[in-house]
Amino acid sequence: MAKFIRIDMGSRTAEIGACPEKYAGLAGRGLTSMFIADEVKPTCHPLGKYNKLVFAPGFLTGTSAVNSGRISCGAKSPLTGGIKESNSGGSFSQKMARLDIKALVFEGLPADGKYAVVKVDKDGVTFDEAPAEIMGAGNYDAIKVLQDKYGPKVGVALIGPAGEMKLTAANISFADPEGNIRSAGRGGLGAVMGSKGIKAVVIDDAGAPAVPIAKPEEFKSAAKRFANALTTHPVTGQGLPKYGTNVLVNILNEAGGLPTENFRRGRNEWANNIGGETMAATIEERGGKTTHGCHAGCVIRCSQHYVDKQGKYITSGFEYETIWALGADAAIDDLDAIAYADREFDEVGIDSIETSVAVAVAMDAGVIPWGDGKAALDLIKQIRQGTPLGRILGSGAAAVGQMYGLTRVPVVKNQAIPAYDPRAVKGVGLTYATTPMGADHTAGYAVATNILRVGGFVDPLGKEGQVELSRNLQIATAAVDSTGMCLFIAFAILDIPDGFNALVDMINARYDLSLTGDDVTALGKTILKAELDFNRRAGFTSAHDRLPEFFEEPCPPHNTVWDFTDEEIDSVLAF
Ligand code: SF4
Repeated sequence: MAKFIRIDMGSRTAEIGACPEKYAGLAGRGLTSMFIADEVKPTCHPLGKYNKLVFAPGFLTGTSAVNSGRISCGAKSPLTGGIKESNSGGSFSQKMARLDIKALVFEGLPADGKYAVVKVDKDGVTFDEAPAEIMGAGNYDAIKVLQDKYGPKVGVALIGPAGEMKLTAANISFADPEGNIRSAGRGGLGAVMGSKGIKAVVIDDAGAPAVPIAKPEEFKSAAKRFANALTTHPVTGQGLPKYGTNVLVNILNEAGGLPTENFRRGRNEWANNIGGETMAATIEERGGKTTHGCHAGCVIRCSQHYVDKQGKYITSGFEYETIWALGADAAIDDLDAIAYADREFDEVGIDSIETSVAVAVAMDAGVIPWGDGKAALDLIKQIRQGTPLGRILGSGAAAVGQMYGLTRVPVVKNQAIPAYDPRAVKGVGLTYATTPMGADHTAGYAVATNILRVGGFVDPLGKEGQVELSRNLQIATAAVDSTGMCLFIAFAILDIPDGFNALVDMINARYDLSLTGDDVTALGKTILKAELDFNRRAGFTSAHDRLPEFFEEPCPPHNTVWDFTDEEIDSVLAF
């Protein structure tokens, strides 16, 4: 029977029980959000005793279904003040699923303020003092120390110095199969983990049986059809494996939606220097890896190992959104400089989107010059040093804007707007405004249909069709985030009907169910309603679903403006 583990960090005790009936049919984001909505007081302090942190694998995690290894992390967010689900790759989730753990819930606060390493294996939960050498250390070294101590194959979730400082942009980092880093980046969940005195959670699935499949032959056949959809779709089968997510730099620049110099325009002249094509050629020339999976079983392999001129590893999971934020929004025309900054984000354990946008806001305030990669890295390093300016930067773009009296601060619900200008990609603008997560492109990735013409086409510069697009994608995403699947599968299942059918068939074969596509939609709506209700009880109103006023300025080259009425915005999630 699936286990539901509650860990009290005050008493350092664990209660291992059967999964409560009401969560038995949930997984991933569905489980984390329903649980937080049920058990966390919406008005509580996110770093206080009433908040809870929950980890949950998806419906298909741990099986042979490709790309199914995401881990969902949920809590009340210290950055947005609302509900948060942030998910990540790495090997943690697959190990949780093999141990048949439906959820790991962390409650309470440490009585002595000390940090623990929580170890979970087939025999239960144990607690160790966090080794002194990993406190304040970078995450790469900390993972090495933990894997030396607990075994080279254990899964690791940990916080870096940013989480120890409880900065509101701190993330939760996860070790990938090679000991490199992936992140549940958004919303400051690393600060929640830090508040509970958890330096790391180590998970060891040694001796655990394979994940049971109710109908193995049907599962195998559906899994094959699903993998086929991913490998034949041009985005998941060619674009992402070849260039990574950074393939989007030149595409968005061409579309006039690449926010440049703190969202002053949507196109620049240097985009190709930081684009996916240049990045892939640079990696190839230096002997790095152009394609790489962040967990076992990924067939898209959008990650890579970016290396220096001597071929030495700098970073992996070098994503478009980070490269955009430093490369276009902060105008740093140098992939190496951005790569070193990305490495520092991973070392310190902080959201690379939030912090990079914060750097651009700091440039706008005159703290450092536009485009100065060295000054940006020095500024980012102040986070680890814990200087006052470093702590402000690590508290996100809104905090920097407030400190310097700016109005040009691209945030919604206090969370930084990423990578796609909402005036030139209007569907994603509606997602930024209305998702309960705070500005988040992944919550309803309308870029797919606005720019990439996946799942049809809706004109990115017009308003027509955008409300329905954002709504439908937000519903679908809430459901996909419950499967444990990487969101990039959406490109294939939006275009290839059998890919979507195969996904549903895999869930049915795994659990002996007979779900339909309508059930998937219903699940997505149920999750969103619970999240919206939590935020409403936390004090959010429709006034929080608005973009900053500066988006009323025309955005070159198209000179379009953000022109949705309040009624149109409020209709997005009115179902
Ligand atoms: S496609 Fe990219 S983000 Fe998704 S599972 Fe593979 S490597 Fe990770």
